[in-house]
Amino acid sequence: MTETVTNWAGNITYAAKELHRPRTPDALRSLVAESARVRVLGSGHSFNEIAEPGPDGTLLSIAALPPEFDVDTAARTVRVSGGVRYAELARRVDAHGLALPNMASLPHISVAGSVATGTHGSGVGNGSLASAVREVEIVTADGSTVTIARGDARFDGAVTSLGALGVVTSLTLDLEPAFEVEQYVFTELPLAGLDFETVAASAYSVSLFTDWREPRFGQVWLKRRTDQPPADFPWATPATVALHPVPGMPAVNTTEQLGVAGPWHERLPHFRAEFTPSSGAELQSEYLLPRSAAVDALNAVDGIRETVAGVLQICEVRTIAADAQWMSPSYGRDTVALHFTWIEDTERVLPVVRRLEEALDAFDARPHWGKVFTTPAQVLRGRYPRLGDFAALARDLDPEGKFANPFVQNIFGD
Ligand SMILES: Cc1cc2nc3c(=O)[nH]c(=O)nc-3n(C[C@H](O)[C@H](O)[C@H](O)COP(=O)(O)OP(=O)(O)OC[C@H]3O[C@@H](n4cnc5c(N)ncnc54)[C@H](O)[C@@H]3O)c2cc1C
Repeated sequence: MTETVTNWAGNITYAAKELHRPRTPDALRSLVAESARVRVLGSGHSFNEIAEPGPDGTLLSIAALPPEFDVDTAARTVRVSGGVRYAELARRVDAHGLALPNMASLPHISVAGSVATGTHGSGVGNGSLASAVREVEIVTADGSTVTIARGDARFDGAVTSLGALGVVTSLTLDLEPAFEVEQYVFTELPLAGLDFETVAASAYSVSLFTDWREPRFGQVWLKRRTDQPPADFPWATPATVALHPVPGMPAVNTTEQLGVAGPWHERLPHFRAEFTPSSGAELQSEYLLPRSAAVDALNAVDGIRETVAGVLQICEVRTIAADAQWMSPSYGRDTVALHFTWIEDTERVLPVVRRLEEALDAFDARPHWGKVFTTPAQVLRGRYPRLGDFAALARDLDPEGKFANPFVQNIFGD
């Protein structure tokens, strides 16, 4: 390696001997064809070794390829290069009076990298970001290009791909007419007596935040579409000033609150696009489980509340509608996601992660592919009923395992 390349959080330093940034599609195809082992690094916002090709592998970024934004206003679709970040995509799409259905908390993550790991926002009616994808273009191991569209038998394995099928050079996404959102924050929602289903369905997107120092949610963020009827939120107190989800942090970088209506892409993320953190002093874990188990799972975390709180910055609870991607953590079931932003101390955090996984084991929890987890591979295999189909698709597109890094091989059980 001639340069030190780390992920955004700085907890992973890639061992790959090189980071290539091809500037043309032809240069990309040649590089892939000539390399023995390849992984793409997106915007590097994952917290584990999912992007690591290993010491003999080639790490490549497609961020220097000419960006593509091809909006079809009649069809309400956009074709976009895989390396583009959601903040830029949202701005372009909005300029055409169109919108993405949902966004993650941070808009600075790449489109291909996000859908590869099953990244999601919140909302009982909102699928993961991969649900908006209708077509992917992939440069495969021999440097040739394959396009897989919705309706193709391989499609449900091709979007949330963990980067194991090839280089996703462009994607086509479904859009809808642009909409406005009002964001409200409520404080002090008790865990006792929580009617999770009603609370989670009380707005287009709902997030519950707790530091687990008490059995209550210090904040609830509601993102209401102005084209949908308002709902009451009688269970907690409306905030009178803008808040940051982490208690005590200044709200300056958060998206506008206090019910001021604004464009979808300036309200759906929690953090403003114009504030781009280059790195973060944190680790993250997240577990996705059936939404019907939300209250039982929250009570299980409450049972180890003090252990969790000792290394926690903030926990966020969100919902995701079931999707059909074989490797998506929200595959086949309406989902509740329990997210944990930890302090930046791997040694102290890992034992708590293990303890948390024990507490959530009974709920068939699937860890977020891009975050810190220790769930053994044989347990994961039992939680992905279509894993065999995905492994077969990977073998078909990549017979010699050029894109199969140790992270993926471990999951496949190779
Ligand atoms: C501050 C912060 C906030 C976050 N918020 C959320 C959130 O709200 N919801 C959520 O679900 N997650 C969230 N995440 C997690 C994040 O969305 C995922 O880790 C996501 O995968 C990051 O995208 P990336 O482009 O940085 O991917 P990387 O970490 O760079 O890569 C992830 C995987 O995608 C593969 N990949 C990347 N680009 C390509 C490509 N072009 N072709 C093929 N494979 C590719 C990589 O090889 C790797 O396997 C957050 C992370 C951070 C740091």
